[in-house]
Amino acid sequence: MSYSSEYRGRFAPSPTGHLHFGSLVAAVGSFLDARHHDGAWIVRMEDLDTPRCIPGAADNILRTLEAFGLYWDGEILYQSKRNAAYEDALQKLRGIGSAYPCCCTRKEIADSALHGIDGPVYPGACRNGIPSGRGSRAWRVRTDTSSFVRAKSAETVPEPAEACLPFDKHGAYGSTIELNDLLQGIVAQHLASEVGDFVVKRADGLFAYQLAVVVDDAFQNITHVVRGSDLLVSTPRQIYLQQLLGLTTPAYAHLPTAVNTRGEKLSKQTLAPPVAAAKPAATLMRALAFLRQEPPAELSNHDTDTVLKWAIAHWDMSRLKRVSAVVMPG
Ligand code: GLU
Repeated sequence: MSYSSEYRGRFAPSPTGHLHFGSLVAAVGSFLDARHHDGAWIVRMEDLDTPRCIPGAADNILRTLEAFGLYWDGEILYQSKRNAAYEDALQKLRGIGSAYPCCCTRKEIADSALHGIDGPVYPGACRNGIPSGRGSRAWRVRTDTSSFVRAKSAETVPEPAEACLPFDKHGAYGSTIELNDLLQGIVAQHLASEVGDFVVKRADGLFAYQLAVVVDDAFQNITHVVRGSDLLVSTPRQIYLQQLLGLTTPAYAHLPTAVNTRGEKLSKQTLAPPVAAAKPAATLMRALAFLRQEPPAELSNHDTDTVLKWAIAHWDMSRLKRVSAVVMPG
């Protein structure tokens, strides 16, 4: 199929379980935004974390998307087949002095790290080399170097990559990454102090989500990333990697996350039930209501194609501005 716009969106589920209502919302939101803009919608299977993947889950997710009429364009990209591309990116990061091997165990880090916005802030023990007698475990990316990488929206003129010093000429330490999320507004994160040097290749030899998602969004020429707000905390790391690797930053829109009455994200861990595919049109209507699209009630008497047709024509993402979570009662 060909599209008149350059828009390329995607849905990137991890096959660690069935599709639950929260992931359906992300699928529907990214699908509608793409189709409303006459763009392509791609599905990428993020089956990178093989120990967490469940046999049959990828196919199950794809069959569920079809049951809802959410048909994707082109081939499915499986991250489990993309190691060579991730290795290439890691070598590039090494080449510019941004990636380094780390021997620290989780316990060592937990014992000495400050708590950041997404777990412990790695204290940088291996930044200048691994102590003798210790083997390397993971690969990390430095976040303490000067602010030569800045979000496009920042006024500072980008400095060349040679400025790999702990402090830039203004005395700043590390980079503040700023993004203007289409829904959540301006988000700024000072990576060095809030996140720390983060893992791009894990101690078990698997590439980390942060690296893989950046490599694949660029490889698939994704222009718009529409996904759950639980991933907003990761986005500055992804933009930072894009800048280090010389990749284009797509537009981001983080949809509200479905949470239970305790404020926990609906997920496998919180025992969210599989999305009900028996009455797909009715479930789609619930997803549209969650996305504040106010579909006319009589639409629920129709099939999924009719519901989606209405939703594509009437899609108005601005109704979700600044909404980061929605409680799903019982
Ligand atoms: N695979 C991730 C998840 O299922 C989503 C990644 C993304 O959309 O960037 O949570």
